[in-house]
Amino acid sequence: MSISIVVSFVLFNAATHFLTLLADYREEREQRIRRTPIKINLAELESKFEFAEEQVAQHRVKKGDTMSGILDGIGAGEQDISLILAEIKKVFPLSKLTVGDEMVVKYRVKIGFDTSKSLEGKDISRKVVVSSVTILPSAEERIVAVRDNAGAYSAKKILVKLTRHVAKFSGVIKNSLFEDGVASGISPNSMMNMINLYGYDVDFQRDIHDGDRFEMLVESFYDESGKRVKDGNVLFSSLVLQSRPIEIYQFKNGDRIEYFDAKGNSVRKSLLRTPINGARISSGFGLRRHPVLGYSKMHKGTDFAAPIGTPILAAGSGTVVYMGVKGGYGNYVQIRHNSEYATAYGHASRFNKKFRVGSKVKQGDVVAYVGSTGRSTGPHLHFEVIYRGTQVNPSKVKATSGVKLAGKDLKRFEAVKSEIDGYRKNIPNSVNANR
Ligand SMILES: [Zn+2]
Repeated sequence: MSISIVVSFVLFNAATHFLTLLADYREEREQRIRRTPIKINLAELESKFEFAEEQVAQHRVKKGDTMSGILDGIGAGEQDISLILAEIKKVFPLSKLTVGDEMVVKYRVKIGFDTSKSLEGKDISRKVVVSSVTILPSAEERIVAVRDNAGAYSAKKILVKLTRHVAKFSGVIKNSLFEDGVASGISPNSMMNMINLYGYDVDFQRDIHDGDRFEMLVESFYDESGKRVKDGNVLFSSLVLQSRPIEIYQFKNGDRIEYFDAKGNSVRKSLLRTPINGARISSGFGLRRHPVLGYSKMHKGTDFAAPIGTPILAAGSGTVVYMGVKGGYGNYVQIRHNSEYATAYGHASRFNKKFRVGSKVKQGDVVAYVGSTGRSTGPHLHFEVIYRGTQVNPSKVKATSGVKLAGKDLKRFEAVKSEIDGYRKNIPNSVNANR
């Protein structure tokens, strides 16, 4: 009995003592909390902030761009930029970055606290962490710099395997050959090549009409993801002008890529029919503002309406015999091609300073730029072909063709031609393969 009394007494005392201790502890803790200044480990806190979703910045290199400038523009830190550049330099000279190259930067924006300032208002900082930089200097190569978990970068050059296909495009001309060609999926570059090839035969101002048709076979190259990354050479091209087809076939003559008609005559001739960039000619059939004259007894030349500054090309190789102001012609150039033929160009806004009277020019050289000087109703080139001192109708001039394939070359050409004709028959039309 006495034992249980003793036990109860001891337990009671212990409980009372414990409660006292607990109360003391609570009070002391509260006091301590009230006394302790708040201390936050900023680095630890920062690490708890999740990075925002990865952002992708696509940049096409413009004139004056530098890689560090582009990264700086995204907000990357100085230190990261120099780390990235140092790595890229090992596989790709920075000086090789050229206008038009594509650069893709993946990065995360990290929200942090600026430890150099107090924890008030504006101390939240935005930090850009670049996770990768990809440069595409050409369709075949990729330079990739990647950040690892420790924050170090490493770069490598990756060669892209491209697959070649032959693509077929065709369409009807409604605005201009260039615009409708590009709208059909042909790259602007291939379109320019095609227009240059027709510049020997076609008067781009007068020969092309609403409803004329075009067809083109182009080599296209695709990357592993199936994306069309670049076009190769034009293999075949046809322009059907007022139901007259003009067909051009590519043929590798030795190392050189050349173009011939179906009979093996080179499309290159001694004189260009359209001595300016055909793509820049205001579409003839839509033109109302300026009279765009063809050759007549009164006019004695052909006019090409084009924007001021459009390069004027030497229609053939020869010697500059006049370069200066000449009455109603305004700024005028005359080129002598041989003892019989000369060509003349009027109303230029300015001349190419590279040339002067006596200079030798090659066919296609830029001799002047379209303008509206002299007696002119609007920007255009007045072009004359002069035969033995008299202006003649350019469409009547038998411009001599360069090469005519014969013998073994002609046999090889015919084999290439029938292969191309097979493509024309069997390849379905690519509809806006670009878009
Ligand atoms: Zn004229």
